[in-house]
Amino acid sequence: MISSKSIFTSIVLFLAVNTANAQITETVLVRNKHFKPVFKQEVLENLLSSSSFDGLYFKIVNGKSDEAISLSEKDEALKLKAATTYYHLNLARKFWAEEMKSEYVKAMPKVTVRLEITNRFSELGHFQHESIEPQHNNALSIPAGEPMEGVEIPAWGNEIWFRPVKKILSKDLPASGLDAEGNPLTKYLSMLSKPIQSTYVNRFIQVTFQNWFYPQSLQTPYQELVMRQFATILGIQLLLEGSKHANRLFLEKYYYLDTAMIPEIIYHEFSHVALSDHLALSLSTPMLEGMADYFATSISGSPHIASKIRKYSLSQPKDAKNKSPYNQIFESNLFANSDFVLSVLWLIKKEFPEQADALIYDARTRLKTETSDIRHDLIGSIMESCWRFCRDPRRDRMRIREILEDKGF
Ligand SMILES: [Zn+2]
Repeated sequence: MISSKSIFTSIVLFLAVNTANAQITETVLVRNKHFKPVFKQEVLENLLSSSSFDGLYFKIVNGKSDEAISLSEKDEALKLKAATTYYHLNLARKFWAEEMKSEYVKAMPKVTVRLEITNRFSELGHFQHESIEPQHNNALSIPAGEPMEGVEIPAWGNEIWFRPVKKILSKDLPASGLDAEGNPLTKYLSMLSKPIQSTYVNRFIQVTFQNWFYPQSLQTPYQELVMRQFATILGIQLLLEGSKHANRLFLEKYYYLDTAMIPEIIYHEFSHVALSDHLALSLSTPMLEGMADYFATSISGSPHIASKIRKYSLSQPKDAKNKSPYNQIFESNLFANSDFVLSVLWLIKKEFPEQADALIYDARTRLKTETSDIRHDLIGSIMESCWRFCRDPRRDRMRIREILEDKGF
């Protein structure tokens, strides 16, 4: 006699075999070996439906809808986005399940992926009302939630939201968020001006004391030394002020970022979800964004994020090889989308290509989204992970320390 359990197993097997056979191929945007974006026909793995973008691990929907987007969607741009996000999310999941061996990702319920959604996220009601500051040009991952008691909103799981793209004048960019960084000259000068000023003030104090107590020890006359200090400080201030007017030289006239069409941003978002067993999806901080960026580059195999893709992005690309030294300012959440943390983690990857992914992944277990900084917590946690994952922890910890000292820590 056949038990109902074995009938169920047979049906599941039948479905699984049939799904595996239903090879659906769609046009998606991928990077070629020179990191140029190209359109290619690719098989969409793990699809459960033969008529919509509904798979084992991801369901791609339009806006607030719960219906998967149809494979015969008439809006070509929307269909291309659905196929591109579906394809790259499956690649990202594969990396986390197979290479990072994440049990959390393997056991994760299906993730709903919303395209073209402008609503803000509400922890209590899933979506804020359309009329409240519609959002464009970014992507975010939201945590699962239970709605407020007595409100007729179903519970939801982890979701990834891709906002619609909107072309705006760079001068109208808000002063926070993705685009907070202004032109690179102003950013760099303001970073430099503080330490330079304090160095020169210290030098001024030292020279003044020397002039009082041991005037014969001064090689150059005191007044001349003082003038030099002031000239340097004044020079830096003038440069800083002047650079603020140089926006036109550095920024494109327009700004837009079509996040659903940029493979590295898709990997970055799924990495947030994969890291969320320890790093809550509650806030955008430099440590959290840097971790997601790092794994985006591990998945793509390239140190670049959102570069060479002008059709879909006129935002500043990120480069893991950025040489900026550490500055306290990078701890500020205004710099959450700078590539500084990525560049630190990339140095560790360059030195320990085999172990870096495991080291950095394990570091998350001692970090907290809201409170962890770069200098003490992120680095301290990586050092701690080294005891378990480095080949020769004593020697390798020393090496990491040297690398970080060179980076200005
Ligand atoms: Zn992010």
